[in-house]
Amino acid sequence: MRPEILNPLFAPIGRLQGIGPKLEKLFTVLLKDSGQTASANVVDLLWHLPTGLIDRRFQPKIADVIAGELATLKVTIGEHVAPPKNQRRLPYRVRCFDDTGSLDLIFFHAHTDYLQKQIPEGSMRYISGRIEVFRDLPQMPHPDHMVSQEEFDQLPLVEPVYPMTGGLARKTLQRSVSLALELVPDMPEWQDKAWKSKQKYQSFNDALIEAHGPTDHQSLEPDHRARLRLAYDELLANQLALGLVRAHMRRAAGRITTGTGELRARLLDILPFTLTRSQVQSVEEILKDMATPERMLRLLQGDVGSGKTIVALLAMLGAVESGVQAAIMAPTEILTRQHYEMMQDLCAKLGVSVVILTGRETGKARVSVLEKIKSGDAQIIIGTHAIFQAGVEFKDLALAIIDEQHRFGVHQRLALQEKAGSGLALDLLVMTATPIPRTLTLTIYGDMDVSKLLEKPAGRLPVDTRVLPISRLSEVTGRLGQILQQGAQVYWVCPLVEESELLDLTSAEQRYEGLKNLFGDKVGLIHGRMKGAEKDAVMEQFRDHQLSILVATTVIEVGVDVPNATIMIIEHAERFGLAQLHQLRGRVGRGGNKSSCLLLYQAPLSETAGKRLKIMRETQDGFVIAEEDLKLRGTGELLGTRQSGFAQFHIANLDAHSELLAAARDDATMIIAKDARLETERGQALRILLYLFERNEAIKLLHAG
Ligand code: ADP
Ligand code: MG
Repeated sequence: MRPEILNPLFAPIGRLQGIGPKLEKLFTVLLKDSGQTASANVVDLLWHLPTGLIDRRFQPKIADVIAGELATLKVTIGEHVAPPKNQRRLPYRVRCFDDTGSLDLIFFHAHTDYLQKQIPEGSMRYISGRIEVFRDLPQMPHPDHMVSQEEFDQLPLVEPVYPMTGGLARKTLQRSVSLALELVPDMPEWQDKAWKSKQKYQSFNDALIEAHGPTDHQSLEPDHRARLRLAYDELLANQLALGLVRAHMRRAAGRITTGTGELRARLLDILPFTLTRSQVQSVEEILKDMATPERMLRLLQGDVGSGKTIVALLAMLGAVESGVQAAIMAPTEILTRQHYEMMQDLCAKLGVSVVILTGRETGKARVSVLEKIKSGDAQIIIGTHAIFQAGVEFKDLALAIIDEQHRFGVHQRLALQEKAGSGLALDLLVMTATPIPRTLTLTIYGDMDVSKLLEKPAGRLPVDTRVLPISRLSEVTGRLGQILQQGAQVYWVCPLVEESELLDLTSAEQRYEGLKNLFGDKVGLIHGRMKGAEKDAVMEQFRDHQLSILVATTVIEVGVDVPNATIMIIEHAERFGLAQLHQLRGRVGRGGNKSSCLLLYQAPLSETAGKRLKIMRETQDGFVIAEEDLKLRGTGELLGTRQSGFAQFHIANLDAHSELLAAARDDATMIIAKDARLETERGQALRILLYLFERNEAIKLLHAG
């Protein structure tokens, strides 16, 4: 239960005076990430910190204004100039001047009557707003204030400026923030006393008020003391929540899973390749964890194509050898089928039974699979999130592997955990292809142990990457004819059109038709709107080389493995993010043949898009790409962490506050060592902190034992 004192902050924003349904919607757009349907709460306003300020203490003369800056000026209003009748789209101008020069106030769709009353010619007014320069003359579009001396004397000298969204008035936003601040209860201190005084932190309440009341530009910086305190609060909530989840996961009595090694040895015999050094080492690390009475919480990190799947299979065989079950969970149907086919193939030769469970197993087939899982007939279970839905009971699940973790949230991890049944420890291995910079790993996974696949399997050739304008499409299709003759297989990825699945589809379908005209029925199409079985059939045909070109939307982004495919063509590559491009390119260069990747773009390229494509051409190193991505996009957006809704910060900023992150981590570790149930006075206050930053999931675990 949320502590009562926080209730006013978790009321919908529409409860604030003056905010009706229309404004509530606007606020939600402004304050919530897209994709979230719940309306914004009062608390969301608190984290919406100003990014600028209007400083009326500084009143430059017109001659001294600076383009792009906010300014407050004392001026005499001059002539009003309406646009010519037939050019209504031109602005209405009001000239004004002081003894150093003149400046135009600019109004689009002006309410002329209002302006003539508000700023009549000849009057003296204080105006403030942002300065622009147009044809060498300063102008101010839509001033924030245009007031008389009397009114000006009533205005605060310094006023915060917040990030805005269209349709929301600056004053409405400011007033709402003030109302929200009034609702903040007196918080107990959750910071360690010694740390607080060492850092010279204010109380939470004071820090919040100061952060919303900047007095100068320095107070808008991330290293201003108020912001440092709030950032630390947020980081501590994050690290404490992760620590609690981890402590909870480890608390259950560990089970010792030591395989005989027999199945693994036989698998290695029948594999057509030898493991890389990193694969061998990762398997060792994983099995060692499983053999200890401590619960395993390990992250297997390896770039696309580094061979994580086989590591997973070896770990699962380790479990099977000791008579327990292992499950692997993948984020998409396609990927799940692919794992199933590959593992089923190998396991059949070892006499190990494998089942698949996704949303598509229904009716009798489902019942039979569920029975096998329950009776223990199924030794390895491969599935989508359907695995941890209600009604799935395991005989004795000891190892769970999550592939491509970043699509799963903390919720799901916990749900899976419960499948182990009470008292049974579940070893957890999380595999991620998307390289994650260290600072982010820490905020998403806490201090999970990490195994890394550092090298790619031997014999992999770098993917020859080229960037071409789409205007050269006919050259591309021309070349393609020859290449197909030689037996090559091609992915052709169609663009994301404004995030609309339907539009994506049209463009993919059009491309499909076009290519079919050229190459006949060697061309297939796969997209997210197809039924599962249809998708399978197409994938199957492509894998069996009945199809040479697979036109796809981004459904193939994650994990798909067809080693014979050597050409990746990405249309409108400028619309994709770096991580996505890297994932897509990772679909080729998997066999021993030389592969290439063609990034087709629509000119003109924006600056960032140009940079992204350049990075793609220059490197194939997933870690380098992730770092560059971070630089280009800023931490919050990386890896879809925004969508998945965790590791997302309102105030903390991993570039500016990385030292604080390290401190918060130590702090959290210490808290958990001393007061794991958050029962001391500080512990109680920390509970409020967790709720405040909506990390309360962790609190439930305190009771779960
Ligand atoms: P990812 O890490 O992207 O999940 P996969 O596990 O799909 O990579 O492996 C990519 C391809 O490399 C697969 O076809 C797999 O069979 C192959 N592979 C894995 N390990 C090796 C190895 N040691 N030597 C050669 N090929 C390997
Ligand atoms: Mg994979």
